[in-house]
Amino acid sequence: MDNKIKKVVIAGGGTAGWMTAAALSKLMGKHLDIVLVESDEIGTVGVGEATIPTLHIFHRLLGLKEQEVMAATNATFKLGISFENWKELNQSYLHSFGFLGKDCWACGFQHFWLKGKKQGIASEIGDYCTEHVAAREGRFAILPNQDQNHAYHMDASLYAKYLRKFAEQHGMSRIEGKIADVLQHQDSKSNSNGHIKALVLESGQVINGDLFIDCTGFKALLIEQTLNTGFEDWSHWLPCDSAIAVQTEATNSPIPYTRSIAHQSGWQWRIPLQNRTGNGMVFCSKFISDDDATQQLLSNIEGEPINKPRVIKFKTGTRRLHWHKNCVAIGLSSGFLEPLESTSIHLIQRSIIRLMQLFPTQEFAQQNTDEFNAQTKFEMDNIRDFIILHYKATNRDDSRFWRYCKEMSIPDSLRHRIEMFNETGNIYKFGNELFGESSWIQVMIGQGIMPKEYHSIVDSMEDEELTSFLHQIKSAAKRKVETLPPHFDFVQHYCKST
Ligand code: FAD
Repeated sequence: MDNKIKKVVIAGGGTAGWMTAAALSKLMGKHLDIVLVESDEIGTVGVGEATIPTLHIFHRLLGLKEQEVMAATNATFKLGISFENWKELNQSYLHSFGFLGKDCWACGFQHFWLKGKKQGIASEIGDYCTEHVAAREGRFAILPNQDQNHAYHMDASLYAKYLRKFAEQHGMSRIEGKIADVLQHQDSKSNSNGHIKALVLESGQVINGDLFIDCTGFKALLIEQTLNTGFEDWSHWLPCDSAIAVQTEATNSPIPYTRSIAHQSGWQWRIPLQNRTGNGMVFCSKFISDDDATQQLLSNIEGEPINKPRVIKFKTGTRRLHWHKNCVAIGLSSGFLEPLESTSIHLIQRSIIRLMQLFPTQEFAQQNTDEFNAQTKFEMDNIRDFIILHYKATNRDDSRFWRYCKEMSIPDSLRHRIEMFNETGNIYKFGNELFGESSWIQVMIGQGIMPKEYHSIVDSMEDEELTSFLHQIKSAAKRKVETLPPHFDFVQHYCKST
């Protein structure tokens, strides 16, 4: 067969470019010539340090050892995100990666908890989840048969470096240079009319290819600037459009969760690594200036800054097509959802896996392309709804920003979920969406949505039985966590064991 894609060109070498290069070279490299072009002069976005547990799937696929990745990227463990001042000032809750309570065939754990709460025998919902209790207590370990759902805080530029070495060892090649032009096939009678033919560098070098992956970040050099696929703007639902990032010295004992602290016109992240802390402010420029946001961030950090604060501008939304002709957009080039739930690297990994599953032949069957676009849209829509929930369900009205969020219209899909939970206590996970029931419940309750009802099956349990059921789950989580070492002691021990 001579109709196969032979050469893949990856434009851009940020996290998206190097994750793509690592996966393609390891899993499909025998049959492909893979080239990555990046420009040191342009550099990368340089943020993106908090991850979610799905990253294990990617590492397993590549055969990477957890200790080795963590040591190479100064990583710590992450068990969830603490949302502070989101529902109202001086209130906080934790969205942990764990499962709440126990599964029941008829209804979710929240229904048992809701009845317990009404009777005054249940404590906070997080007490019924091991990861939640471990995060709060700052304890963590990986033990045989007792793994906790965890992710990492890591240095994104070291991660890209690590993946670059891995990808180069698997036979792909890197070209340094600035892309100055993108050439397209011009033959109106051919199926490949308008397909990308080659990248032309400032040096004059021409890089031909069969399949092009656009990892050029917000520039979207191929998918947008060349193929004009269009952008669906979501900024009316997610109005933040700017971020400021600054790093500070390490704290003595990094905590195993990200902090997300809401301010008057946005929110601040704190991401503890082994050797430093990543800080940033995400805000809406309609309500606060860059200078004021910088001042607000700098007056809310711990330790001395070790670099200058840097402003990043963005627009929230999604590319109308993520795969068009012979070009696939992965990473920031395909759209952007703010980092409130640390989902961008997850979306990169999903697109890479999807691309490998739907890898094209030379004919570029439209069915593959359509499927890729439909699945990407489904995932992005679901994550978008989950993020909007944090802004919409708030009691805050102390600033113009929060009043806007409280009053804004929301997608019907999210409205349905909120109303259903409010009325019935039920949450359903649709298909292959990222956030499971435990995530939705923790955030809904954390943001102050308390269901009016619980499932009637809970009433078939005697009161003593319910008391003992709740007590058993809570004490099992507490006992498990008591056996764990302090988080950072374990990080140091684990990273030395590479
Ligand atoms: P970039 O890092 O911008 O890389 C683009 C690449 O394209 C670079 O190598 C650049 O040199 C190259 N390039 C561009 N133009 C040219 C040209 N003309 N010629 C040659 N090369 C070119 N994600 C998470 O999962 N967790 C987080 O906590 C998180 N926090 C974030 C915070 C902020 C404020 C922002 C903005 C994003 C955050 N993200 C986070 C998203 C995450 O940073 C990105 O998904 C990730 O870094 C991937 O970026 P990228 O590789 O697509 O783009």
